[in-house]
Amino acid sequence: MLAMNYRGPFRVRAEQKPEPEILHPEDAIVRVLRSCICGSDLHLYHGLVPDTRVGSTFGHEFIGIVETVGSGVQKLKTGDKVLVPFNIACGKCAFCKQELFGNCHESNPEATAVGGIYGYSHTAGGFDGGQAEYVRVPYADVGPVVIPEDMHPDDAVLLTDVVPTGYQAAEMGGIKKGDTVVVFGAGPVGIMAAKCAWLFGAGRVIIIDHLEYRLDFARNYAQCEAYNFRSMEDPVLFLKKTTDWFGADVCIDAVGGDAAGNAMQTITGRKMMLQAGSATALHWAINSVKKGGIVSIVGVYGPTDNLIPIGNVVNKGITIRANQASVKRLLPRLIEHIRSGYIDPKAIISHRIPLEEVADAYHMFSAKLDNCIKPILIPPS
Ligand code: NAD
Ligand code: ZN
Repeated sequence: MLAMNYRGPFRVRAEQKPEPEILHPEDAIVRVLRSCICGSDLHLYHGLVPDTRVGSTFGHEFIGIVETVGSGVQKLKTGDKVLVPFNIACGKCAFCKQELFGNCHESNPEATAVGGIYGYSHTAGGFDGGQAEYVRVPYADVGPVVIPEDMHPDDAVLLTDVVPTGYQAAEMGGIKKGDTVVVFGAGPVGIMAAKCAWLFGAGRVIIIDHLEYRLDFARNYAQCEAYNFRSMEDPVLFLKKTTDWFGADVCIDAVGGDAAGNAMQTITGRKMMLQAGSATALHWAINSVKKGGIVSIVGVYGPTDNLIPIGNVVNKGITIRANQASVKRLLPRLIEHIRSGYIDPKAIISHRIPLEEVADAYHMFSAKLDNCIKPILIPPS
């Protein structure tokens, strides 16, 4: 089959590799209809995530048709059209029982933190992902959901990660009626977080990025204020001024440890002297949230990062909440928000690219070329 193949930092290509097989009675094999590239894949592509092995296939946002099921699978059958949450979860461990599907213990027992994730290095279990013609889906009765008849496939694929992650970012912010919410990062995740912040009663939503085309999109899509940090002397000062010097009630980090190291580099040389790969957005979030406020982190980080202003966390009494999204927990309510028309996930898809051209797709998304917001890869039919 054709699959995306990782060769090393900034080097990926489409290559033939053997089709996956059922390895466990609870597995299914899914023929992929489409898969997205995520900002999280860029951390792998940039070499930020430890133990990302040459030859592995990325892709944790995909939908497809069930091709075969193992002898222990009861709920799925051949021919079902499914969306597959990015978390690989056993459904039975202590974490899954609390619906913390992103922290499943059984799917990745060697890791101390994250559960299994499709196509996300050996630190997330070493599973191959869905940027391929076929993918093995473990615990097939737990994660996959049959796509409702009335749902557009592009909406379905964005329910595997981006929409739940944006929603959970807002939820973890503990937003109260009238709150001012600042979202750092106007990528797919930040845009969804801004859109969802209103659902929790926000009175004001501000998004910060440096890519004008994304800020324009966010302004229209999420009906929020959108500002370019490159045009500011100091984003923290700007946010303090616009909140009567109190700071925001809630700050959301939808950037992560290196999301576009290029963005970080643009501010090196200013007085903050932050380095590429450092936690710039998190630094800004902590310093611009009000005393007693909440910082919600969905941006992904490498195992360590510098420059976290921990003193301010303590002195301001900030609560920090962070996690991988627990996709399955959120699906029922998000399907309703799509049905009602409030969330239109597919509107963020900017590019449809044949899987054969995966190298170009990664380059474009990483370098943010051609006004790229969210690329979808289409395997050969
Ligand atoms: P993306 O790369 O498309 O978007 C990131 C955006 O951040 C870009 O528009 C970039 O210009 C902007 N940016 C860079 N530095 C910034 C700064 N200092 N301040 C403000 N904006 C800045 O990525 P995405 O797909 O939107 O994902 C965003 C983050 O969310 C990534 O770290 C990704 O790994 C993470 N993520 C987490 C989960 C989860 O479950 N926790 C799920 C999906 C994605
Ligand atoms: Zn993702």
